[in-house]
Amino acid sequence: MTEVLSAAQEAPGVVRLSEAEAMRRALRLAATPGVPLGPNPRVGCVLLADDGALVAEGFHRGAGTAHAEADALWHAGEAARGTTAVVTLEPCNHTGRTGPCAKALIKAGVRRVVYALSDPNPVARGGADTLRAAGIEVEGGVLEAEAREVNAAWLAGIRRGA
Ligand SMILES: [Zn+2]
Repeated sequence: MTEVLSAAQEAPGVVRLSEAEAMRRALRLAATPGVPLGPNPRVGCVLLADDGALVAEGFHRGAGTAHAEADALWHAGEAARGTTAVVTLEPCNHTGRTGPCAKALIKAGVRRVVYALSDPNPVARGGADTLRAAGIEVEGGVLEAEAREVNAAWLAGIRRGA
């Protein structure tokens, strides 16, 4: 990945993060105490402005609730336009109880998407391709090992075909 900014610099009211720092933050959000280990993946999302300013963040609280990306986009509102979305899991591509996150990110005008772990779920995968097809820069595999740890239980379930 491209290291755009140095370590987090705290200016009054503004937090600036590199993409790697934002991913660590997203991973911590994903593992927020109280978020169940399954049946859904634990996912966090941080939206960064071009200068690394933290625009909004969100996380998934469990089955039937908003996905992390939708949560962050809701908090950001119009400010989501032009941001980089840093997500711990490839944005989903399927319409479940909530709409596909790939489409929501496109609609919100996100410029770049960075994710940690490719979605191993055959029903949900393909979000990265959908984003790229819409002209969005996509980079996967950022802090993937850490993201696997956060979702070890969920990934084991997928491998078992649960
Ligand atoms: Zn989703």
